[in-house]
Amino acid sequence: MRCHLRLLATSDVHGAILPYDYASGRDGTAYGLARTASLISRARREAPGGCLLVDNGDFLQGTPLSDLHDIAGESGRHPVIAAMNRLGYDAATLGNHEFNFGLPALRAALDQATFPVICSNALARRGAQVADDVTLLPPSVMVERELHDRTGARHRLRVGLLGLLPPQIMAWDRFHLARDVCARDIIETAAARVPMLRAEGADLVVLLAHTGLEHGDAGIEAENAALSLARLPGVDAIIAGHSHEVFPDPAAASRADGPDHRAGTFFGVPAVMAGFRGSHLGVIDLDLIPGPRGWRVAGHRVEARAVAPGGARPPAPPDPAIIAAVRRSHAATLAYMRAPLGRTSRPIHSYLSRYRCDLPVLLVAEAQRAAVARALTGGPLDGVPLLSATAPFQTGGRAGPDAFTDIPAGPLSLGNAADLQPFPNTLCALLLSGAELRDWLERSVSCFRTLVPGLPDQPLWDARFPGNVADTVLGVRYEIDLARPPLYDARGVALAGEGVRGRIRSLSHRGVPVRAGDRFVMAVNSYRAFGGGPYPALPEDRLVHASRAMVRDAVAGFLGAGGLDRLDPVPVWTFAPIPGASALIETGPGLRRHPGDIAAMGLTDLGLSEAGFLRLRLPLDGTACETGG
Ligand code: MN
Ligand code: MG
Repeated sequence: MRCHLRLLATSDVHGAILPYDYASGRDGTAYGLARTASLISRARREAPGGCLLVDNGDFLQGTPLSDLHDIAGESGRHPVIAAMNRLGYDAATLGNHEFNFGLPALRAALDQATFPVICSNALARRGAQVADDVTLLPPSVMVERELHDRTGARHRLRVGLLGLLPPQIMAWDRFHLARDVCARDIIETAAARVPMLRAEGADLVVLLAHTGLEHGDAGIEAENAALSLARLPGVDAIIAGHSHEVFPDPAAASRADGPDHRAGTFFGVPAVMAGFRGSHLGVIDLDLIPGPRGWRVAGHRVEARAVAPGGARPPAPPDPAIIAAVRRSHAATLAYMRAPLGRTSRPIHSYLSRYRCDLPVLLVAEAQRAAVARALTGGPLDGVPLLSATAPFQTGGRAGPDAFTDIPAGPLSLGNAADLQPFPNTLCALLLSGAELRDWLERSVSCFRTLVPGLPDQPLWDARFPGNVADTVLGVRYEIDLARPPLYDARGVALAGEGVRGRIRSLSHRGVPVRAGDRFVMAVNSYRAFGGGPYPALPEDRLVHASRAMVRDAVAGFLGAGGLDRLDPVPVWTFAPIPGASALIETGPGLRRHPGDIAAMGLTDLGLSEAGFLRLRLPLDGTACETGG
């Protein structure tokens, strides 16, 4: 009477269908859903009849193929959905990035899906309790499977799938969602909906949870809640993600507080996290036996199968059927991206963008400023000093040592603008006081660790911060004093006690020190305009400009008009010298192709880390204070 069910899961595919890197034009990358498809075929062959294939969200955004499909691709046809239809998913849940293009675009994409897409905590209307919520999409789906036991007898199994995502969508995509959507806490929603699925006759309940592992106390409205979900009664398996982690990882140590890499469980519940960009296929095998009230899980095996297993073994080959499903969209994307767009007389790379005032950041900031200046001309804010803030986007991190912008000197193309501005952000502007500007800058430099005078080789970047939080604010000048402690943590919680001075020194506008009562307009992208990470969500009346114009288009316009030649060469910010101190930094090994930058900053090459990042020593005692730009 024993039966077997296999769950197959992808997560955070982020538009990566082909093994192709659109920024570098490099073919044969070791990721992409076309490669995962080969693993899916094999896993299905191993478990005939008893497989469920699900996706865990963040599938529609992330590459030019997905992000530009409406302007560049085949009209109306979403390449990611086309590939997913071909793979025959049983269900998918929404991730936070599904909202990046707004609701009409999301609906247009989902209309093409031949599989159900669920989500229980993105709401059209919030009820007094979960049962009264009006969800944006079906909250769950019941998938039926006919399973065979060893005697050949058939058994019907009903699997209830429940979709969940971080309620932070309301901050991250507030511009798109504020009027039409609200969100409810992940745990509160699941705690109410799991028993509802049981009552509807689910033999098993599987959570498609676009959420990662908690680190420390999660609390209400937690972004990462996968471990807490495992503690809810009635959950048989969890597909988690969002953080782009891989679970289980046989090489990783298990944590006493939940994730057991050897058993593949969170608090005893089978669970998997399938990396990102199709890097892994999550496989959960469940042994089922009939109990007094339906089926019961009697055993499990969990694996995250890598598309690129490493060592001498080659990556899984791409599935020709998936390549064919996106061939025309891919060709149209390339044709669009190759449209010429002016020239650059020097390389534009982001290898050092975390560590100096850098060209790829400055040019985006200047493009934003020029576009907002045009929009505000003749209005009530015309004449208020106009600043512009942005952070670098491609600086390795979780995306790996190849994830950097690296554009050689020579002709530029539209694809370069998409590389410099990979997210579908729109142009916004905030009204700030001088005091708020200073506070903004303190938040932007909290990503650096505190350095001690006289000590060599001190790690510079606090790994709890992603690269895309470190704003440079164009239009003012300032120094960053890393001998002083940061004022904020990565979530924007104030750290310092009373009387602690910040790191921002000599903050001036046009040579005049900035005073607390000064007024500024600051161009930002829509993602930043609504807070998140270390940044505050400002009162709504501070958002003095919000347009549907894409920052990427502003960047393209700027490059096309020769804006690079007019950039101010004086750096916006520098690190204040710290006597006798040097820092350790990590970046992509591609920096070695730019020896002039290594020399200008006085960097010492210390070789590659285990993860393949280039480690360098950065002097901070003022002996080499060239900063790019
Ligand atoms: Mn993601
Ligand atoms: Mg996500």
